[in-house]
Amino acid sequence: MLRRSLARGCALVVLGMAGVLAANSRPAVHGWQQTAEFDLLIKNGRVIDPANGVDAVMDVAVVGTKIARVAANIDPAQARRTVDATGFHVVPGLIDIHAHVFFGTEKDAYLSNADTAVQPDTHSFRSGQTTLVDAGGAGWRNFLQFKEQVIDRARTRVLSFINIVGAGMKGGPVEQNLADMDARLTAMRIRQYPGVIVGIKVAHYGGPEWDPVKRAVAAGQETGVPVMVDFGNHTPPLSLEALLLEHLRPGDILTHTYANVAGRTPIVDDSGKVRPFVWAARKRGIIFDVGHGGGSFLYRQAVPALQQGFAPDVISTDLHTGSMNAGMKDILNVMSKLLNLGMSLPDVIKANTSKAAAVIKRPDLGQLSAGTEADIAVLSLRRGTFGFIDSGGGKLEGNQKLECELTIKAGQVVWDLNGIAKSVWTESPAPGREP
Ligand SMILES: [Zn+2]
Repeated sequence: MLRRSLARGCALVVLGMAGVLAANSRPAVHGWQQTAEFDLLIKNGRVIDPANGVDAVMDVAVVGTKIARVAANIDPAQARRTVDATGFHVVPGLIDIHAHVFFGTEKDAYLSNADTAVQPDTHSFRSGQTTLVDAGGAGWRNFLQFKEQVIDRARTRVLSFINIVGAGMKGGPVEQNLADMDARLTAMRIRQYPGVIVGIKVAHYGGPEWDPVKRAVAAGQETGVPVMVDFGNHTPPLSLEALLLEHLRPGDILTHTYANVAGRTPIVDDSGKVRPFVWAARKRGIIFDVGHGGGSFLYRQAVPALQQGFAPDVISTDLHTGSMNAGMKDILNVMSKLLNLGMSLPDVIKANTSKAAAVIKRPDLGQLSAGTEADIAVLSLRRGTFGFIDSGGGKLEGNQKLECELTIKAGQVVWDLNGIAKSVWTESPAPGREP
């Protein structure tokens, strides 16, 4: 018995040596590739991973759907496929906490099962986004339809701020119906989908009551999720100061931070100063979100605010067919605006990764830790002369612009602008045979 075991042991050692020899002499042989430790290696990019305090040239290795390792100088011989990210920025897949993706065919339904909303995969990956949070498209009544129609079918991770209005964001009188704003039923729906419904949205109500905010906060209190408020349009106007200092809780979110719309006090006053109560709100933990949209980002607000150090906590798009074809365009365009207004690149990345994840209480997202889902964006920062349009139609000239080279969702390449993850066509497998 002993002899046979030893003999078998020797045979294994010899096979092992053969494997090492093959690896050293012919790194491309098929048999060796099957023993590679990593499926994908992104090499030599500047990794910005705020959750882990990383900002350095490093390599990111992926196995299957997960991040396997982030370290300097990982040997490409250990990987089946290597992407050279020299000169690029390698960041966690971006999170957009304010998008409108409840796409559908209902007539006159605004952003709830309607065609003003955007099918998520048509927009997300090309902008480095792997997670989109729909901001109020669905309410408790039609959340299941949203889930079946969009969330379950998209490759993008789609989450939801559920509307306090049961029917969702259908516009017009539907959103003015106080009788359809039910904290208890909203909370019930949130408890059914923890981690997918990550918050509650209040928007567009024009009456003089605080009820929509109060009911959303009550549902948020019951379920431990934040409330996002799109404030304004109240007749007579309601106080932004009271909203931020009395009604909302720390961790709740004001979206459209740099807007100046009818019925809402802008955060910067007529003399160009950020209002003291806005600073006080930040101090007590209110989250300030960009929510650019078609009408909610003005340089006349953003420029003085940024000059006084009032940068946003979170950068989001308010994506819909109107904003994407106007000044907003996409998340990278909005992030580029903030860069050109003086935010640092690490701060801009943080606002769309670890901070966004913390705000929606999904700390498993927005980071590049080993063992987490491999959602990665590889961005280039272009230098030149660029123009950035705000929602008033004004232009800001800037010299930096972010562009998405490569997006990886759960370990799969889902966007590759210049083919950096591909081999030259003469060396690639015959048509139809590429894995
Ligand atoms: Zn919106």
